[in-house]
Amino acid sequence: MVTGRSYYEILGVERNASDAEIKRAFRKLAQQHHPDVSAEAGSAERFKEANEAYQVLSDPKRRQIYDVVGTAALGDMGGAGSPFGEGFGGFGDLFDAFFSGMSGAGAGGSRRSRRPAGSDLRYDLRIAFGEAVHGMDKEIEFDLLDKCGTCGGSGAALGSTPTTCSHCGGRGEIRAVRQTMLGQMVNVTACNRCNGEGSVISSPCGTCRGDGRVQRHKKLRVTIPAGIDEGHQIRLSGEGEAGPRGGPGGNLYVAVHVTPHPQLRRDGTEVYHDLSLSIAQAALGTRVRIPTIEGEEELEIKPGTQPGTEIRMRGRGVPHLRRAGARGDLHVMVRVAVPTKLSKRQRQLLEELAAESGEVVLSGGILDRMKDAIG
Ligand code: ZN
Repeated sequence: MVTGRSYYEILGVERNASDAEIKRAFRKLAQQHHPDVSAEAGSAERFKEANEAYQVLSDPKRRQIYDVVGTAALGDMGGAGSPFGEGFGGFGDLFDAFFSGMSGAGAGGSRRSRRPAGSDLRYDLRIAFGEAVHGMDKEIEFDLLDKCGTCGGSGAALGSTPTTCSHCGGRGEIRAVRQTMLGQMVNVTACNRCNGEGSVISSPCGTCRGDGRVQRHKKLRVTIPAGIDEGHQIRLSGEGEAGPRGGPGGNLYVAVHVTPHPQLRRDGTEVYHDLSLSIAQAALGTRVRIPTIEGEEELEIKPGTQPGTEIRMRGRGVPHLRRAGARGDLHVMVRVAVPTKLSKRQRQLLEELAAESGEVVLSGGILDRMKDAIG
């Protein structure tokens, strides 16, 4: 922070402002000071400052830390808790949420783009449990408006180029200065001849009819990092729809959906397996086959294993997205199943076991006991 003002002061809200109030305040400031909107000196600074304040105050965890210790402790949390920087809910996403369609080139661009940006696209990608855990490359295919190959996206016919708009002199805007009682007022409007783009196409490209874009089927390889989870989004900058007449491309968001594993449960980097043992297996010990993220393997169960025992296999969970090499654990949760249906022989053996331990049990089946009662 350069100004020494608190984040609350920057956004102009009370310290106890609600999330909605904070959002509203930021939106207002952002619309006012966004570099693509305001040519006023210092606007970019004000926008950056407001964004920084919003990044912290809109996140309950970070806001709490900020309230207690100020900005010092927030230093290493700069990525807004995102494993991939901008692509995962960082500055870029926030920016896009407020300004989609204004500047697909993303945040912080100092050069003003007069051409509208292409739309952001979303691709829903379903992957298997193991694919999410181990990561892989996936090829995706989709249709989109892509840069026209004939004109290279400019929209001008081969051999010609867009010409500077004579109406606005290429500035894309018309400024009208008026003297009023309050002083000079400058009224700025987009040039209506070139739609604010600053250039016009006199001989349009025959392939795209001057739009600079054509419908195309696209194949793209997406790298899915090991440890990705349900609901994560991968942002591919500029891989969305092309902007008209060479405008910046939108982003492609690949929303990841993970098909659950039939026998393994996942919670972040931790993996859980429920293992059911019989009374004999728990008492005498056994070897069982359990599923792991690397496939099935054998696990030794010690004699006298109690229900509720947790066998923790360290480092056998899901790889950590941000810390290379780090992995969670696999937790084998033991339960002991008490049989509800017994064969005659099983019943007999259990009764013998009880007798051996001097335990009182209901002996015999219902029919036997009824016979006993009748005598
Ligand atoms: Zn073209």
